[in-house]
Amino acid sequence: MPSDFDTSDCYTIPGKLALPYTYFAGRVGSRFITTLRDRHKIMGVRCDHCDMVLVPPRQTCERCLRDLSDQWCEVGTRGEVVNYTVVRYPDRHQPRPVPFVLAMIRLEGADTPIVHLLEEIAPEQVVIGMAVEAVFAVKTTATIRDIDHFKPCDS
Ligand SMILES: [Zn+2]
Repeated sequence: MPSDFDTSDCYTIPGKLALPYTYFAGRVGSRFITTLRDRHKIMGVRCDHCDMVLVPPRQTCERCLRDLSDQWCEVGTRGEVVNYTVVRYPDRHQPRPVPFVLAMIRLEGADTPIVHLLEEIAPEQVVIGMAVEAVFAVKTTATIRDIDHFKPCDS
């Protein structure tokens, strides 16, 4: 690639940055997380115009753009795998040693899936459509990781 600078005598060091940070989860995200943390309930929002239930909840309906910030509904802690991938790339930022499964899970009563870890099953045994249930973390982190993972269950 042409450059205006001669870099032939430059030594480069590849690296990654890890920065501590805090972000505001927002009004809807905050209630979702605190309800999960305090009551082990998974909350969504239902659009009263198009009847779509969004989980994780969002302030605005992705279909008709209505404000949903006061349209709370509880969804199930069980659901089905609608898609998944097997993560095989080891990295210290990964939540688990590889290989592990990240699944898109549509919870009972929800129209949109959440992405979470699927464990207690070998990756090669995971199938789309299988029933799964949430396993809550013993110790809260006040994050989505208060659901430690999902595991297979009877449908
Ligand atoms: Zn809508």
